[in-house]
Amino acid sequence: MTITDLKFTTVSIPFREPEIWSGGGRLGITSTIVEVFTDEGITGIGEALPAPTPEVTLAALSNIRALVLGENPFHIERIVNKIYSLGGFYSFVTVANFAIGGVEMALWDIVGKALRVPTHILFGGPLRKEVAYMCFIQRKSPDLMAEEATQAVEKGFRTIYTKVGLDYESDIAVVQAIRKAIGPKPRLRVDANEAWSPGTALRILREMEPYNLEYVEQPIAMRDIDQLRVLRMRTNVPIAANQSSWTNRDLYQVLAMGAADVVMTDPFQAGGLLAFKKAAGIAESAGVPIVYHCVGPLAISTYAAMQVIASSTNFLLDNQTYNHMLSDDVVINVPKFKRGRLGVPETPGIGVELDYDKVARYAELYEKQGYYSAYDTQANSFSRESSKEDNKILWFPYQ
Ligand SMILES: [Mg+2]
Repeated sequence: MTITDLKFTTVSIPFREPEIWSGGGRLGITSTIVEVFTDEGITGIGEALPAPTPEVTLAALSNIRALVLGENPFHIERIVNKIYSLGGFYSFVTVANFAIGGVEMALWDIVGKALRVPTHILFGGPLRKEVAYMCFIQRKSPDLMAEEATQAVEKGFRTIYTKVGLDYESDIAVVQAIRKAIGPKPRLRVDANEAWSPGTALRILREMEPYNLEYVEQPIAMRDIDQLRVLRMRTNVPIAANQSSWTNRDLYQVLAMGAADVVMTDPFQAGGLLAFKKAAGIAESAGVPIVYHCVGPLAISTYAAMQVIASSTNFLLDNQTYNHMLSDDVVINVPKFKRGRLGVPETPGIGVELDYDKVARYAELYEKQGYYSAYDTQANSFSRESSKEDNKILWFPYQ
């Protein structure tokens, strides 16, 4: 079988409400749908996320296209290595992996379809029929958040997730209000997205200790792995390394240094489904749980990632999703959560059926209004208020 063509279509789909995080806000998801065509009439579907903008990802995809044309879609390890080496992407890994993630996903879709098996069969076979997800509650008043968290728990979500690192007092007030409302049993995790210095992180986490957090995600800057290790020793709140586990080499280093209780990555940080599977293997060897992180993909990536989650042992905690936040999607089989879980697809390939009318509709929206940046301070009312009040400097993770 030979790859004959690749097609890239960028779409923008609005959220039901703005996403708010310490680095800004976002009004929806912009993603590039990847279609890989073969001489045997099988088409693979994937999606590539903006790294950091769709224009950059499209430029990388255009380079990758030339390296992939004429290859056998079954030769995935060879194709990915060719992109890194002959394509020169080996020293531009973080940009490359977001594009590779989309193309490689489509190759696994082709292989599964050609062999008439769900892709997870090729990754070791199913260990679970369903994957559990957390519910992402957006920042607003602590009372409203507590009410929404209670509703999510009533719907069957076991884990509540929210962003912190926005404002010292309200970060603590939010955690306090949610824990009080949901009671002791549901898990509560918070994500600071690198917002704190090590000293601030220690101070604020000590104040959060009574509220029994499942973990704090990426409290400090991603490159400060040694400081993350020290913080882990000084607080009772378990530490999850997300941005610190960006590539599989980073993830290995975090584990080797004992800097985290949980690692979090995905096919875009790692650079494909196979790399994501390898990340799960590295974490398994270290005896540490891995959680599927996502930057904000559509259902295509949700289904693709499930192929790895379903076939790997140490996805023991609830995984990240944006699907319940999206107003729509580009697939016919839109994910429907039952008690906070999604069923693992049983159809050949990664389990995605594109809705081409919706692809056209949301490609038009992207053409008209551009992309939804994750760094949009206008979408984040907390940023607007704090910049007015404190003349706060712009967020920058390496300062
Ligand atoms: Mg995170």
